[in-house]
Amino acid sequence: MVIFMKKSMQLYIHIPFCVKKCAYCDFLSFAADEKIQDAYIAALQKELDFYGSKYSDRYISTIFIGGGTPSWLNEGSMASIMDCVYRNFEVATDAEITIECNPGTVSDAKFIVYKEIGINRLSIGLQSANDEELKILGRIHTFEQFLRTYDKARHHGFYNINVDLMSALPGQSPEGFISSLKKVVRLKPEHISAYSLIIEEGTPFYDKYQKDVKLREAGCKTTMLPTEEEEYQTTKWTQELLQEKGYHWYEISNFAKPGKECRHNIGYWKRADYLGVGLGAASLIDNVRYANTRDIYAYIDCPEKATLQERMYGWNAVESREVLSRDAQMEEFMFLGLRMIDGFHREEFEKSFGVAIEGVYGTELKRLQQEELLLQKEGRIRLTEKGIDVSNYALSQFLLS
Ligand code: SF4
Repeated sequence: MVIFMKKSMQLYIHIPFCVKKCAYCDFLSFAADEKIQDAYIAALQKELDFYGSKYSDRYISTIFIGGGTPSWLNEGSMASIMDCVYRNFEVATDAEITIECNPGTVSDAKFIVYKEIGINRLSIGLQSANDEELKILGRIHTFEQFLRTYDKARHHGFYNINVDLMSALPGQSPEGFISSLKKVVRLKPEHISAYSLIIEEGTPFYDKYQKDVKLREAGCKTTMLPTEEEEYQTTKWTQELLQEKGYHWYEISNFAKPGKECRHNIGYWKRADYLGVGLGAASLIDNVRYANTRDIYAYIDCPEKATLQERMYGWNAVESREVLSRDAQMEEFMFLGLRMIDGFHREEFEKSFGVAIEGVYGTELKRLQQEELLLQKEGRIRLTEKGIDVSNYALSQFLLS
């Protein structure tokens, strides 16, 4: 008897709509009226239909609905998107299905529907438990609204919740961040992501704090942004506090109660195949990277404009396609694999590339070990704590070109 085994694939669904743009945000997100939202959802469903038949030899292991603010969509729209997913793909019965939510945008009715359509993980964007800081960030909610959303989620039976927090905010001290963190820890979420604010070009924050960024880069005192020493202190305190409270530190910026690590993100770090649908979404399938158009009107129009020939080669919202060279695959393997605190097993490298890791990175591994930035133990290779502190430097050693 021949047993046909389907390969797995992760699915990312991008919902680019937000009530209002936050002052620091450079994600592909914006406010849009209902007409645009409906047209977008119709195009998204056509894209799902297309890939459903193209990848009928795959099953979906995890789904992540991100944005934007997916929880801003009404429950009917979200149900129709997931209905389309189930119609087109075989979704594993134990699939982790996450939706990103913003406080103040989720009602009881939405949580009820989320449960019905199989969503089993929530990722709530809080960023800070300090209302002043939330205002500076341009967030649409207060801490109190977050608490109400969180309670409602628990009430509706969600027991896999991530809370996003952001440090290095203008005017924030390490103590200030830790005070936010403690308020969140008291709620016992299963997962906490703690990222540092990055001032991105093209955002209102960039115009406002550009001078500070340059001063900080030059090692000078800044007026508003935390210094590098303060950022370092915040990071150390965060790692200590969360581990003390029983969270498993499993990736540079991510902490989870044992068994609640985000499977979807681990898939990214392990370079699992993923299909991204929606505006600007990226995919990595069989070492080919695709990216959809970032133009909402082009995306909405594409189902009508697609010719049969274009559809034979791919969805015509795809704007770029890059076949990753072997060197690029190896670099990615190292950059992403070493983001995980446990690193990876040397056999995983060998299995992926057919050569022992020493054959490619022998000199670099040896050097980083001598510098006490990297550790090899029982076949596993990982950064040391010192290596994580200077991860940009450590990871840059694995560039091949
Ligand atoms: S809610 Fe998130 S995606 Fe939307 S503008 Fe704010 S940071 Fe960006």
